[in-house]
Amino acid sequence: MSKSKFFQSVQNYFDKAARYTNLDDGLLHQIKTCNAVYRINFPVKIGNQVKVVEAYRVQHSHHRNPTKGGIRYSRHVTQEEVMALATLMTYKCAIVDVPFGGAKGGVKITPWEYTGDELERITRRYTAELIKRNFIGPAIDVPAPDYGTGAREMAWIYDTYQTFKGGDVIDAAGCVTGKPTNQNGIRGRTEATGRGVFYGIREACSIEEDMKKRGLSKGIEGKTMVIQGLGNVGSHTGMISQDEGGVKIIGFGEVEGAIYDPNGIDIHQLLAFRKETGSILNYPGAKSFPKEERDIVMEFECDILVPAALEDQITMENVDRIKAKIIAEAANGPINSGAQEKLIERGVMILPDVYLNAGGVTVSYFEWLKNLSHMRFGRMEKRFNQRAFTNLVELVEEKTGKIIGDREKSVVARGADEIDLVRSGLEETMVVAYHQTREILNMNGGLNDLRTAAFVNAILKISNDYQSLGIFP
Ligand code: NAD
Repeated sequence: MSKSKFFQSVQNYFDKAARYTNLDDGLLHQIKTCNAVYRINFPVKIGNQVKVVEAYRVQHSHHRNPTKGGIRYSRHVTQEEVMALATLMTYKCAIVDVPFGGAKGGVKITPWEYTGDELERITRRYTAELIKRNFIGPAIDVPAPDYGTGAREMAWIYDTYQTFKGGDVIDAAGCVTGKPTNQNGIRGRTEATGRGVFYGIREACSIEEDMKKRGLSKGIEGKTMVIQGLGNVGSHTGMISQDEGGVKIIGFGEVEGAIYDPNGIDIHQLLAFRKETGSILNYPGAKSFPKEERDIVMEFECDILVPAALEDQITMENVDRIKAKIIAEAANGPINSGAQEKLIERGVMILPDVYLNAGGVTVSYFEWLKNLSHMRFGRMEKRFNQRAFTNLVELVEEKTGKIIGDREKSVVARGADEIDLVRSGLEETMVVAYHQTREILNMNGGLNDLRTAAFVNAILKISNDYQSLGIFP
């Protein structure tokens, strides 16, 4: 699928969902269209040469501010791709009730071809360009990590913003999220997207009726999983699914190839093995497939397939060979619209990106709130709660005459830390959004997939905002 097809795919999903809403055409057009597209070419000194870097920032929707979305570093970046991803961000935020418009950034480079110093120069210059045009700021547009970027790049962005604006803007730390925790970041942000993917899969598996339709038993425990991409999202999805969900992971795919072992592969040991050898290939006990055959990972027999690398991984070319019963879209846009129709016909459950990978933006929202409040979550109430719970436990002891052991006491009478609150807020968000989406799916005759239901949910919420302005009918 070319990049313009990815954008078209997102627009097709919107049009399909819009038919279930009865909204005015003008309003639908306003929701669908990209509000601002900024394309830049800037020079950066690399070695003895000057490289002109092509980059983008797209703000899809200003119905809520700031706008929000990750920055991607990849040689595949195009305007259409960034537009598609910014568009998805608007709907994603609406689905999980995060009060932002959608945005996305892209820098057309292959990050591993540059040294750390060079990447820093590129990142700082890109940020300066955004500052110049007022395309970044805690109340304007707040970037975050995406494919090819992480906490390190976010720290450079924050520092550059501080340098230019820190004197005037007391909330400067809220200009970007996904920062390191010692740089005004939040605990739990790095794992957030993967953790959200896990909560989404777990919730879907908890509904007996939906599992039965796919010949599966209720509950996530014991289900088999295959993961494509062992970066931030893929590795955290895998670790949390294995450790907290009791999932058996039987296959992995990375750039260097794929591996498969029906008896299960411990993800922690695999990550350590890859760190040591530089590859997942030849992992003891697993069958290895070389780089040229790496796409076979999508075709492994399993209950849950997790594409967590890039878009356009399941197409008309390979859709008939996909054997998974549930496809959990951790990556953005891994299934194209034609292939999706075929999978739905076959009864495959697709947990759509627009809902499933919203954990990152949800915890980014928590980080932004923390930055605006200038205080860590839990600081005010932790000790108070701890004391109140202890008093309660002591009262129970006194009234019943039974002594509660120190271990139990420390579990019951514990005040929540920032990480506990972040995880709890994320779990609540993913669970509520899943049931809202499923309800829309079951209420609308003719609707047969969660993606369209999620889009309907988003369109209705965004239209409410516009309608309350009195501009649209
Ligand atoms: P990342 O750069 O940390 O990881 C991507 C991984 O995929 C890398 O390890 C890379 O080697 C691997 N990969 C690339 N091409 C591959 C191929 N052809 N086959 C197998 N593996 C391949 O990126 P990430 O942040 O984990 O993002 C992954 C996906 O999740 C992207 O689609 C991104 O848009 C989406 N996403 C990320 C976040 C986030 O918070 N990071 C949030 C929402 C969505």
